Amino acid sequence: MSIQKIGVIGAGLMGNGIAHVSLLSGFEVTLVDAFAAALPKAVATMTKNMERQVAKGQLTEDAKSAALARLATSTDYHALKGADIIIEAVPERMEIKEAIYKELKEVVSETTILASNTSSISITRLASMSGQPARFIGMHFFNPVPMMKLVEVIRGLATSDETYEAVKALAGKLGKTAVTIHDAPGFAVNSILCPMLNEAVFTLAEGVASVTEIDAAMKLGAAHPMGPLELADFVGLDTLLSIMQVLHKELGEDKYRPAPLLAKYVEAGWYGRKSGKGFYDYSTTPPTPTR
Ligand code: NAD
Repeated sequence: MSIQKIGVIGAGLMGNGIAHVSLLSGFEVTLVDAFAAALPKAVATMTKNMERQVAKGQLTEDAKSAALARLATSTDYHALKGADIIIEAVPERMEIKEAIYKELKEVVSETTILASNTSSISITRLASMSGQPARFIGMHFFNPVPMMKLVEVIRGLATSDETYEAVKALAGKLGKTAVTIHDAPGFAVNSILCPMLNEAVFTLAEGVASVTEIDAAMKLGAAHPMGPLELADFVGLDTLLSIMQVLHKELGEDKYRPAPLLAKYVEAGWYGRKSGKGFYDYSTTPPTPTR
């Protein structure tokens, strides 16, 4: 099966990026959000990001206008009728995703694929909630979507070969490299990356080194492009904590225990870049370490 029309649910950070790359790859996109105010905000972000690409010579003005003309937005799930695939990118809460899948039953046809961009919820569990497990799959993009080349394609227990092949081909058309992952907590990247970021917080809390020393050490000693605490702030400390909680609960191993200092930062509302403060305070240039 070949995908022509893409529906995206959730016009936040990820949904906006997924819509952006889909439009620039020539697809028609319908973007749906439950909150009307999120839609013009997402269109403004996409327009601004495309204008930046035009300024850099990566995109022509005509291609930008044509891409934006292929975009429709709505607060009504019925606008997704006719989409070959619907990619869900709403907050990481099972009850929100479940309620949406229920509504989509009226909208999907017998061939519509449903994909979730979840970072940590079992694809097999979401697939069984969707009522169409053979046509359900994980499509895990990375932030910022237009820049990051990877898509983890996660097969649930019941995902059909046809669904898998169509989604793998779609990832390629979006300019991404797909890696195939079996459904397991944290999939591949987060099950390796998040424990490393969590370890960096333990290292900080134990007084082994300061924020800047930990980041400099891993950049210079392990050739990482960003230090782990800088990266944790970028991912969002609330997101990191919730992924560690999922890994800990599902796998039951002490090595996944969330660092108490990480939980404390989240309790303080210090979520990292998005809230202006995490392991660094972003109100100054350059950002100042908060410990
Ligand atoms: P976000 O909070 O930026 O955006 C979520 C959007 O969903 C918001 O615009 C919100 O208005 C909308 N929404 C909420 N309830 C809705 C509903 N019932 N129907 C339609 N829209 C609704 O979140 P995000 O960071 O874009 O994350 C979305 C998903 O992507 C999550 O599952 C997350 O785990 C996953 N993810 C996030 C990242 C990341 O770095 N942020 C990376 C990979 C995957």
